[in-house]
Amino acid sequence: MVRYIFVTGGVVSSLGKGLSSASLAYLLQSRGFKVRLRKLDPYLNVDPGTMSPFQHGEVFVTDDGAETDLDLGHYERFSGTSAKKTDNITTGKIYSDVLKKERKGEYLGKTVQVIPHITDRIKEFIKNDVAKEDFIICEIGGTVGDIESLPFVEAIRQFSNDVGKKNTLFIHLTLVPYMKASDEIKTKPTQHSVKELRSIGIQPDIIICRSERAIPLDQRKKISLFCNVDIKNVIETVDVKTIYEAPISFNNENLDKQVLEYFKIKTRKKVNLNPWKKITKIVLHTKKSVNIAIVGKYIGLKDAYKSLDEALTHGGIHNNLKVNLIRIDSEKLNISEIKNKLKDAAGILIPGGFGKRGTEGKIEAINYSRKNKIPFLGICFGMQMAIIEFARNQLNIKKATSSEFGPGGSPIIGLINEWNKDGKIIKGTDKVLGGTMRLGLYEAKLKDNSLIKKIYKCKSIKERHRHRYEINIAYKDQFEKNGMIFSGLSPDMKLPEIIELKNHPWFIGVQFHPEFKSRPLAPHPLFSSFIKAAKNHK
Ligand code: GLN
Repeated sequence: MVRYIFVTGGVVSSLGKGLSSASLAYLLQSRGFKVRLRKLDPYLNVDPGTMSPFQHGEVFVTDDGAETDLDLGHYERFSGTSAKKTDNITTGKIYSDVLKKERKGEYLGKTVQVIPHITDRIKEFIKNDVAKEDFIICEIGGTVGDIESLPFVEAIRQFSNDVGKKNTLFIHLTLVPYMKASDEIKTKPTQHSVKELRSIGIQPDIIICRSERAIPLDQRKKISLFCNVDIKNVIETVDVKTIYEAPISFNNENLDKQVLEYFKIKTRKKVNLNPWKKITKIVLHTKKSVNIAIVGKYIGLKDAYKSLDEALTHGGIHNNLKVNLIRIDSEKLNISEIKNKLKDAAGILIPGGFGKRGTEGKIEAINYSRKNKIPFLGICFGMQMAIIEFARNQLNIKKATSSEFGPGGSPIIGLINEWNKDGKIIKGTDKVLGGTMRLGLYEAKLKDNSLIKKIYKCKSIKERHRHRYEINIAYKDQFEKNGMIFSGLSPDMKLPEIIELKNHPWFIGVQFHPEFKSRPLAPHPLFSSFIKAAKNHK
């Protein structure tokens, strides 16, 4: 029987609802339960795919090709379970579904309204695609009190009535600030936030209090009393030194125990925290480190390359190394500074990206790593830029470019209109931008005796894609004759998936995003190998 856990947030945003939900998922899984994590986002975009990473951070891509909120990345990394299209929904998607039905005449004769039509659609989403799960953890984006999140909160209130209170649990995450001037922990914002939640019909069952410092018993009692929550269910979460400590910390605070007690579920199975303890130790105490430069356009916002930063850290964990990231803004990188800015980097990474802005800086950085034999990893756009660099400087195609940058030049990278997915032809376009890229898992066949095959230790791989442009396969021979090998191809041999350099210790470009599949407890081999190469670079 499936139980539903709803996680809301109050007082301020960015309290770590995603991380709390993901940690709870791990703890319940470790006790032997099957858990799915879902996210309901209140914004009006149908999905975050059309938002700038500066606005909303990274767009996370699932195996089945959904462009989703980055919290789904946390969910996957902590729970080890791959998310699906059916695990993230936005207000925009809900409304577009309801309006499509309205135009078809499916509500004929009725007035279409937020309650019940929008709330019904939200409830349908919460329950969709559930098979043998014991728990569905649903995180509601935004902060209680926002106009935008009201229909979601109303929907979960109704949902609890529909499936029964004993099958639903409400967790509310709030901030409990520490006031330096009076040396006090303040519970009032939490009281207000819970009051707000109750005014729209939801009484939280568990309150997670995010705090800089431990919350004294008196203050906990106060929260319990004013917010009408059992003291055992006032859980504190004091800032952790690394996110990998979060499952340990929530377990110490009995979060999983209280959840099971609420549902009256008994289990003797103990939580296994050893893997998290082990990696926390490495992350916090390893002395040796390696410097990796990320040359990208979205350096200003930390969350813009969330999965990438994580995957590099995982690669470090695998090699028992701390990874220091040197973030370099490609727009501000000019030739005269390259050497100076990259001199301390033992590895250079060019991440995914869109548009011409900042590309020349990336190309210069690639040239620098190619010439100086510094380990290089180019991801998606980074691989495309490596192709342009090589074409211009090694093949003497001076005007080498991508058709993404407009007409003219020699477009070695071009828009593709259709491609093959497991035998089916899929059409792409750049006329409609939402959800029309080559998205999700695609297979690549790996070339014998290549570095990539040595790294993956298999003949064929499946990785997640998110791009519209492709390297033109017609150039393959010309590149290979000059030392750049197309070491991974789509099964129909039409699309270059991986490139590598013959005379270089470690130079790889991939058309996909390996970072989405890396997990702290299972680091991705490409990142482990890249960090190892950086470690060996003198
Ligand atoms: N802009 C490039 C494309 O659409 C690369 C996309 C990416 O790096 N994710 O092909």
